[in-house]
Amino acid sequence: MASAPALGEFELIARFFTRQSTADPSLAVGIGDDCALLDVGTDHLWAVTTDLLTESVHFLAEVDPAALGHKALAVNLSDLAACGATPRCFFLAIALAAPSEPWLAAFTQGLFTLAKRHRCVLAGGDTTRAAAVTICITALGTVPRGQALLRSTAAAGDDIWVSGELGDAALALAWRREELTLPERPALAAVERLERPTPRVELGERLRTVATAAIDVSDGLAGDLGHILQASAVGAQIEWPAVPRSALMRELAPALQQQFALAGGDDYELLFTAPAARRPAVEQAAAGAGVKVSRIGRVTAAGGLSVVDATGARMDTACDGFDHFQPRGR
Ligand code: ADP
Ligand code: MG
Repeated sequence: MASAPALGEFELIARFFTRQSTADPSLAVGIGDDCALLDVGTDHLWAVTTDLLTESVHFLAEVDPAALGHKALAVNLSDLAACGATPRCFFLAIALAAPSEPWLAAFTQGLFTLAKRHRCVLAGGDTTRAAAVTICITALGTVPRGQALLRSTAAAGDDIWVSGELGDAALALAWRREELTLPERPALAAVERLERPTPRVELGERLRTVATAAIDVSDGLAGDLGHILQASAVGAQIEWPAVPRSALMRELAPALQQQFALAGGDDYELLFTAPAARRPAVEQAAAGAGVKVSRIGRVTAAGGLSVVDATGARMDTACDGFDHFQPRGR
Protein backbone atom coordinates (compact mmCIF):
# COMPACT_ATOMS: atom_id res chain seq x y z
CA MET A 1 0.00 0.00 0.00
CA ALA A 2 1.39 3.38 -0.95
CA SER A 3 2.17 5.57 2.08
CA ALA A 4 0.38 8.91 2.42
CA PRO A 5 2.39 11.94 1.27
CA ALA A 6 4.25 13.66 4.11
CA LEU A 7 2.24 16.37 5.83
CA GLY A 8 3.88 19.71 5.02
CA GLU A 9 4.73 22.30 7.69
CA PHE A 10 2.11 24.82 6.63
CA GLU A 11 -0.63 22.24 6.02
CA LEU A 12 0.09 20.81 9.47
CA ILE A 13 -0.30 24.25 11.10
CA ALA A 14 -3.49 24.97 9.13
CA ARG A 15 -5.11 21.61 9.89
CA PHE A 16 -4.19 21.09 13.52
CA PHE A 17 -3.32 24.42 15.13
CA THR A 18 -5.54 26.99 13.44
CA ARG A 19 -8.82 27.59 15.28
CA GLN A 20 -10.50 30.63 13.73
CA SER A 21 -13.78 30.08 15.56
CA THR A 22 -12.20 30.73 18.95
CA ALA A 23 -10.49 33.96 17.90
CA ASP A 24 -10.72 36.74 20.46
CA PRO A 25 -11.66 40.25 19.26
CA SER A 26 -8.48 41.63 20.86
CA LEU A 27 -6.48 39.37 18.54
CA ALA A 28 -6.42 41.70 15.54
CA VAL A 29 -4.20 39.31 13.56
CA GLY A 30 -3.66 35.68 14.59
CA ILE A 31 -1.98 32.66 13.00
CA GLY A 32 -0.67 33.18 9.48
CA ASP A 33 1.37 36.38 9.61
CA ASP A 34 4.91 37.13 10.82
CA CYS A 35 3.55 38.37 14.15
CA ALA A 36 0.26 38.15 15.96
CA LEU A 37 -1.19 41.62 16.61
CA LEU A 38 -2.89 42.28 19.93
CA ASP A 39 -5.29 45.19 20.20
CA VAL A 40 -5.50 46.21 23.85
CA GLY A 41 -7.33 49.43 23.14
CA THR A 42 -4.40 51.85 23.06
CA ASP A 43 -2.96 53.88 20.18
CA HIS A 44 -0.38 51.13 19.57
CA LEU A 45 -0.89 47.40 18.94
CA TRP A 46 1.40 44.75 20.40
CA ALA A 47 3.19 42.57 17.83
CA VAL A 48 4.24 39.16 19.20
CA THR A 49 6.34 36.49 17.53
CA THR A 50 8.16 33.33 18.59
CA ASP A 51 10.86 31.20 16.95
CA LEU A 52 12.46 27.96 18.00
CA LEU A 53 16.03 26.94 17.17
CA THR A 54 17.18 23.39 17.81
CA GLU A 55 20.61 21.83 17.62
CA SER A 56 21.23 19.72 14.49
CA VAL A 57 18.18 21.22 12.71
CA HIS A 58 18.97 24.97 12.84
CA PHE A 59 22.57 24.95 14.00
CA LEU A 60 25.42 22.53 14.55
CA ALA A 61 26.72 21.74 18.02
CA GLU A 62 30.06 23.37 17.14
CA VAL A 63 28.49 26.71 16.13
CA ASP A 64 30.02 29.84 17.67
CA PRO A 65 27.77 30.41 20.73
CA ALA A 66 28.02 34.22 20.35
CA ALA A 67 26.69 33.93 16.79
CA LEU A 68 23.93 31.62 18.04
CA GLY A 69 22.88 34.14 20.70
CA HIS A 70 22.74 36.83 18.03
CA LYS A 71 20.78 34.72 15.57
CA ALA A 72 18.24 33.43 18.10
CA LEU A 73 17.12 37.01 18.75
CA ALA A 74 17.71 38.28 15.19
CA VAL A 75 15.19 35.90 13.64
CA ASN A 76 12.52 37.20 16.03
CA LEU A 77 13.41 40.86 15.48
CA SER A 78 13.16 40.12 11.76
CA ASP A 79 9.54 39.03 12.23
CA LEU A 80 8.84 42.23 14.18
CA ALA A 81 10.46 44.20 11.33
CA ALA A 82 8.21 42.43 8.82
CA CYS A 83 5.22 43.90 10.69
CA GLY A 84 6.80 47.34 11.00
CA ALA A 85 6.97 46.93 14.79
CA THR A 86 9.45 48.53 17.18
CA PRO A 87 11.04 45.88 19.44
CA ARG A 88 10.23 46.30 23.16
CA CYS A 89 11.15 43.13 25.06
CA PHE A 90 11.73 39.40 24.69
CA PHE A 91 11.45 36.14 26.62
CA LEU A 92 14.07 33.40 26.45
CA ALA A 93 13.20 29.73 27.00
CA ILE A 94 16.35 27.64 26.82
CA ALA A 95 17.09 23.94 27.22
CA LEU A 96 20.73 23.01 27.71
CA ALA A 97 22.40 19.61 27.58
CA ALA A 98 25.39 20.43 29.78
CA PRO A 99 25.69 24.10 30.78
CA SER A 100 29.22 25.42 30.35
CA GLU A 101 30.28 28.84 31.60
CA PRO A 102 32.33 29.84 28.52
CA TRP A 103 29.47 28.76 26.24
CA LEU A 104 26.91 30.75 28.25
CA ALA A 105 29.18 33.80 28.45
CA ALA A 106 29.61 33.85 24.66
CA PHE A 107 25.94 33.08 23.95
CA THR A 108 24.70 35.90 26.18
CA GLN A 109 27.30 38.31 24.77
CA GLY A 110 25.93 37.74 21.25
CA LEU A 111 22.35 37.88 22.50
CA PHE A 112 22.60 41.04 24.58
CA THR A 113 24.74 42.96 22.10
CA LEU A 114 21.91 42.71 19.57
CA ALA A 115 19.24 43.30 22.22
CA LYS A 116 20.97 46.48 23.35
CA ARG A 117 21.29 47.75 19.78
CA HIS A 118 17.50 47.57 19.47
CA ARG A 119 16.72 48.55 23.06
CA CYS A 120 14.88 45.25 23.47
CA VAL A 121 15.08 43.97 27.04
CA LEU A 122 14.93 40.40 28.34
CA ALA A 123 11.74 40.28 30.40
CA GLY A 124 11.57 36.61 31.42
CA GLY A 125 11.89 33.06 30.21
CA ASP A 126 12.47 29.50 31.33
CA THR A 127 15.55 27.30 31.75
CA THR A 128 15.68 23.54 31.69
CA ARG A 129 17.81 20.55 30.75
CA ALA A 130 17.40 18.52 27.55
CA ALA A 131 19.37 16.14 25.36
CA ALA A 132 19.97 18.83 22.72
CA VAL A 133 20.27 22.61 23.01
CA THR A 134 16.92 24.21 22.20
CA ILE A 135 16.31 27.95 22.21
CA CYS A 136 12.90 29.55 21.96
CA ILE A 137 12.64 33.33 21.94
CA THR A 138 9.38 35.23 22.01
CA ALA A 139 9.71 38.89 21.09
CA LEU A 140 7.22 41.70 21.62
CA GLY A 141 7.07 45.00 19.81
CA THR A 142 4.64 47.83 19.24
CA VAL A 143 3.26 49.39 16.08
CA PRO A 144 1.00 52.45 15.75
CA ARG A 145 -2.65 51.54 15.25
CA GLY A 146 -3.48 51.09 11.55
CA GLN A 147 0.16 50.99 10.46
CA ALA A 148 1.14 47.32 10.89
CA LEU A 149 2.49 45.67 7.74
CA LEU A 150 0.66 42.47 6.88
CA ARG A 151 1.05 39.68 4.35
CA SER A 152 -2.56 39.99 3.25
CA THR A 153 -2.71 43.51 1.84
CA ALA A 154 -0.67 43.47 -1.40
CA ALA A 155 -2.58 44.89 -4.38
CA ALA A 156 -2.36 44.11 -8.11
CA GLY A 157 -0.08 46.64 -9.78
CA ASP A 158 2.13 47.16 -6.71
CA ASP A 159 5.90 46.98 -7.12
CA ILE A 160 7.73 44.16 -5.32
CA TRP A 161 10.86 45.14 -3.42
CA VAL A 162 13.47 43.33 -1.38
CA SER A 163 16.20 44.62 0.91
CA GLY A 164 19.88 43.62 0.81
CA GLU A 165 21.03 40.66 -1.27
CA LEU A 166 19.53 37.19 -1.47
CA GLY A 167 20.97 33.70 -1.27
CA ASP A 168 24.30 34.25 0.48
CA ALA A 169 23.19 32.42 3.63
CA ALA A 170 22.22 29.31 1.68
CA LEU A 171 25.41 29.62 -0.35
CA ALA A 172 27.46 29.79 2.85
CA LEU A 173 25.73 26.72 4.23
CA ALA A 174 26.51 24.75 1.06
CA TRP A 175 30.14 25.88 1.32
CA ARG A 176 30.31 24.87 4.97
CA ARG A 177 28.98 21.45 4.00
CA GLU A 178 31.69 21.26 1.31
CA GLU A 179 29.08 20.96 -1.43
CA LEU A 180 30.94 23.58 -3.47
CA THR A 181 34.28 25.34 -3.50
CA LEU A 182 34.52 29.11 -3.17
CA PRO A 183 37.28 31.65 -2.59
CA GLU A 184 37.74 31.73 1.17
CA ARG A 185 37.51 35.44 1.93
CA PRO A 186 34.12 36.20 0.27
CA ALA A 187 32.84 32.82 1.46
CA LEU A 188 33.56 33.83 5.05
CA ALA A 189 31.63 37.07 4.48
CA ALA A 190 28.69 34.93 3.35
CA VAL A 191 29.06 32.77 6.48
CA GLU A 192 28.72 35.97 8.50
CA ARG A 193 25.38 36.61 6.75
CA LEU A 194 24.29 33.08 7.64
CA GLU A 195 25.38 33.21 11.27
CA ARG A 196 24.72 36.87 12.09
CA PRO A 197 21.78 38.04 9.99
CA THR A 198 20.84 41.72 10.32
CA PRO A 199 17.16 42.17 11.18
CA ARG A 200 15.85 45.09 9.09
CA VAL A 201 14.07 46.72 12.01
CA GLU A 202 14.55 50.35 11.07
CA LEU A 203 13.55 49.71 7.47
CA GLY A 204 10.35 48.00 8.68
CA GLU A 205 9.52 50.99 10.87
CA ARG A 206 10.11 53.43 8.02
CA LEU A 207 7.96 51.37 5.63
CA ARG A 208 4.87 51.46 7.88
CA THR A 209 3.21 54.23 5.91
CA VAL A 210 4.77 53.30 2.57
CA ALA A 211 4.51 49.53 1.97
CA THR A 212 1.21 47.77 1.30
CA ALA A 213 2.39 44.31 2.48
CA ALA A 214 5.56 42.73 3.87
CA ILE A 215 7.18 39.50 5.03
CA ASP A 216 10.72 38.62 6.03
CA VAL A 217 12.59 36.18 3.82
CA SER A 218 13.36 33.27 6.12
CA ASP A 219 12.44 30.33 3.90
CA GLY A 220 13.50 31.63 0.47
CA LEU A 221 12.18 34.41 -1.78
CA ALA A 222 9.80 32.23 -3.79
CA GLY A 223 8.23 30.51 -0.79
CA ASP A 224 7.88 33.68 1.27
CA LEU A 225 6.53 35.72 -1.65
CA GLY A 226 4.13 32.81 -2.09
CA HIS A 227 2.81 33.49 1.43
CA ILE A 228 2.08 37.13 0.48
CA LEU A 229 0.40 36.03 -2.77
CA GLN A 230 -1.75 33.47 -0.99
CA ALA A 231 -2.71 35.81 1.85
CA SER A 232 -3.46 38.69 -0.56
CA ALA A 233 -5.09 36.52 -3.28
CA VAL A 234 -2.84 37.95 -6.01
CA GLY A 235 -0.07 36.74 -8.35
CA ALA A 236 3.40 38.10 -9.08
CA GLN A 237 6.01 38.43 -11.76
CA ILE A 238 9.65 38.55 -10.69
CA GLU A 239 12.38 39.81 -13.01
CA TRP A 240 15.31 37.49 -12.39
CA PRO A 241 18.01 40.01 -13.49
CA ALA A 242 16.74 42.45 -10.83
CA VAL A 243 17.03 39.96 -7.94
CA PRO A 244 19.92 41.35 -5.86
CA ARG A 245 22.89 38.99 -5.56
CA SER A 246 26.38 39.39 -4.17
CA ALA A 247 29.49 39.44 -6.38
CA LEU A 248 30.33 36.00 -4.95
CA MET A 249 26.92 34.65 -5.99
CA ARG A 250 27.23 36.06 -9.51
CA GLU A 251 30.33 33.92 -10.08
CA LEU A 252 28.24 30.75 -9.82
CA ALA A 253 26.44 28.85 -12.59
CA PRO A 254 22.98 30.37 -13.31
CA ALA A 255 21.09 27.32 -12.02
CA LEU A 256 22.90 27.50 -8.67
CA GLN A 257 22.28 31.24 -8.41
CA GLN A 258 18.57 30.63 -8.94
CA GLN A 259 18.53 27.85 -6.38
CA PHE A 260 20.21 29.98 -3.71
CA ALA A 261 18.63 33.38 -4.44
CA LEU A 262 15.07 32.18 -5.14
CA ALA A 263 14.78 29.19 -2.84
CA GLY A 264 17.59 29.51 -0.30
CA GLY A 265 16.65 30.22 3.30
CA ASP A 266 17.92 32.29 6.21
CA ASP A 267 18.36 35.63 4.41
CA TYR A 268 16.19 37.64 6.84
CA GLU A 269 15.73 40.42 4.32
CA LEU A 270 12.44 42.30 4.01
CA LEU A 271 10.27 41.51 1.01
CA PHE A 272 7.54 44.09 0.54
CA THR A 273 5.09 45.61 -1.91
CA ALA A 274 4.31 49.28 -2.53
CA PRO A 275 2.38 51.26 -5.14
CA ALA A 276 4.50 52.52 -8.06
CA ALA A 277 3.67 56.08 -7.00
CA ARG A 278 5.53 55.44 -3.74
CA ARG A 279 8.90 54.63 -5.32
CA PRO A 280 10.54 57.84 -4.02
CA ALA A 281 9.14 57.14 -0.54
CA VAL A 282 10.56 53.59 -0.61
CA GLU A 283 13.97 54.92 -1.65
CA GLN A 284 13.78 57.52 1.11
CA ALA A 285 12.88 54.89 3.73
CA ALA A 286 15.79 52.71 2.57
CA ALA A 287 18.24 55.61 2.60
CA GLY A 288 17.06 56.61 6.07
CA ALA A 289 17.59 53.06 7.32
CA GLY A 290 20.94 52.74 5.52
CA VAL A 291 19.79 49.62 3.64
CA LYS A 292 19.87 48.88 -0.07
CA VAL A 293 16.52 47.99 -1.65
CA SER A 294 15.85 46.55 -5.10
CA ARG A 295 12.66 46.60 -7.14
CA ILE A 296 12.35 43.03 -8.40
CA GLY A 297 8.92 42.75 -9.98
CA ARG A 298 5.25 43.52 -9.65
CA VAL A 299 2.06 42.13 -8.20
CA THR A 300 -0.43 40.79 -10.73
CA ALA A 301 -4.16 40.19 -10.37
CA ALA A 302 -3.72 36.42 -10.67
CA GLY A 303 -1.50 33.76 -12.22
CA GLY A 304 0.62 32.58 -9.31
CA LEU A 305 4.32 33.37 -9.30
CA SER A 306 6.30 33.62 -12.53
CA VAL A 307 9.97 34.47 -12.94
CA VAL A 308 11.04 36.12 -16.21
CA ASP A 309 14.46 36.70 -17.80
CA ALA A 310 15.88 39.88 -19.32
CA THR A 311 13.78 39.40 -22.48
CA GLY A 312 10.58 38.96 -20.47
CA ALA A 313 10.43 35.22 -21.25
CA ARG A 314 9.17 32.98 -18.48
CA MET A 315 11.92 30.94 -16.83
CA ASP A 316 11.63 27.40 -15.60
CA THR A 317 12.81 27.60 -11.99
CA ALA A 318 12.42 25.02 -9.26
CA CYS A 319 11.84 27.38 -6.38
CA ASP A 320 9.65 26.13 -3.55
CA GLY A 321 10.21 27.58 -0.09
CA PHE A 322 11.75 25.64 2.76
CA ASP A 323 9.41 23.29 4.62
CA HIS A 324 10.57 21.59 7.82
CA PHE A 325 8.73 18.38 7.00
CA GLN A 326 9.59 18.22 3.30
CA PRO A 327 13.17 19.38 3.53
CA ARG A 328 15.61 19.52 0.66
CA GLY A 329 18.51 19.20 3.06
CA ARG A 330 19.03 22.39 5.01
P1 ADP B 1 7.84 32.86 10.25
O1 ADP B 1 8.67 32.21 9.15
O2 ADP B 1 7.47 34.26 9.96
O3 ADP B 1 8.46 32.70 11.62
P2 ADP B 1 6.29 30.50 10.10
O4 ADP B 1 6.40 30.18 8.66
O5 ADP B 1 7.21 29.79 11.05
O6 ADP B 1 6.47 32.07 10.28
O7 ADP B 1 4.81 30.27 10.59
C1 ADP B 1 3.71 30.67 9.80
C2 ADP B 1 2.56 31.06 10.71
O8 ADP B 1 2.11 29.92 11.46
C3 ADP B 1 2.91 32.13 11.73
O9 ADP B 1 1.81 33.00 11.87
C4 ADP B 1 3.13 31.33 13.00
O10 ADP B 1 2.86 32.10 14.17
C5 ADP B 1 2.13 30.20 12.86
N1 ADP B 1 2.52 28.95 13.56
C6 ADP B 1 3.62 28.19 13.36
N2 ADP B 1 3.62 27.11 14.17
C7 ADP B 1 2.49 27.20 14.92
C8 ADP B 1 1.92 26.40 15.97
N3 ADP B 1 2.51 25.28 16.38
N4 ADP B 1 0.76 26.82 16.52
C9 ADP B 1 0.17 27.95 16.09
N5 ADP B 1 0.63 28.74 15.12
C10 ADP B 1 1.78 28.38 14.54
MG1 MG C 1 8.63 35.79 9.18
